[in-house]
Amino acid sequence: MLEWLPSSERCMAKVRSATPTRTRRKPRVTASDVLDLLGEEYGPIVWKPRYDAVSELVFTVLSQHTSDVNSERAFNNLLGTFGSLEAVAEADVQKIAEAIWIGGLSRVKAPRIKEILRQVAQERGSLDMSFLKEMPLDEAKAWLKSLPGIGPKSAAVILCFSLGMPAMPVDTHVYRVSKRLGFFGEKTTLGQSHDALEAMVKPQEVFAFHVLLITHGRRVCKAPRPLCHRCELAWGCPSRELFVQEPSRRKRNKS
Ligand code: SF4
Repeated sequence: MLEWLPSSERCMAKVRSATPTRTRRKPRVTASDVLDLLGEEYGPIVWKPRYDAVSELVFTVLSQHTSDVNSERAFNNLLGTFGSLEAVAEADVQKIAEAIWIGGLSRVKAPRIKEILRQVAQERGSLDMSFLKEMPLDEAKAWLKSLPGIGPKSAAVILCFSLGMPAMPVDTHVYRVSKRLGFFGEKTTLGQSHDALEAMVKPQEVFAFHVLLITHGRRVCKAPRPLCHRCELAWGCPSRELFVQEPSRRKRNKS
């Protein structure tokens, strides 16, 4: 009904149409508000695979506890040194560690990558992991989580980014923004939040929802101090008042 309005007017229209009265509850942001309003701000979000599944798997291990820039350098070095992941699977662990040194934690990641590649090759006869796409989502997640060092977030990244499956990766940004928006309770752990968020959107919206929340977390809903005055979702965010002080209270605090 509000599609024809520009984004800022649509926010106001939502507030007006849901203005709290004594009997009416405060408006709350929903998943479709995120897709709609943040989609207009940061979109359009178009899925396209970054790597094939086994490369995404190795990249995910390399990206643990390091920046995107360094994990990309480590991945490029790895392929530049060995030529293929099949060759990495046969390589000496010390040599793998040297190739990925730039990404940090190379002594942990090198044996992990080798063992993962060994397990995939042994179980499937090759490093082709496209079979995951034919599995039910829960089984595909469980298969990936049985590999060393692969938890719910890494499994979801591989399935969603590489294979286009509706698995919701929840990193620290997605978790923080969702919690502030009240999409799950205070006691929901990061591990539990994957399923909770996945259930909130249609399968075809999972990727966009993830990208929009992560972008919002990086640009506006930052930790520890979110920029609520610039937020398209402030009208219905239950955490907004925790971060935005009224002018009178600000004055009192100064005196
Ligand atoms: S209003 Fe503030 S706390 Fe709520 S989502 Fe926006 S930036 Fe985050």
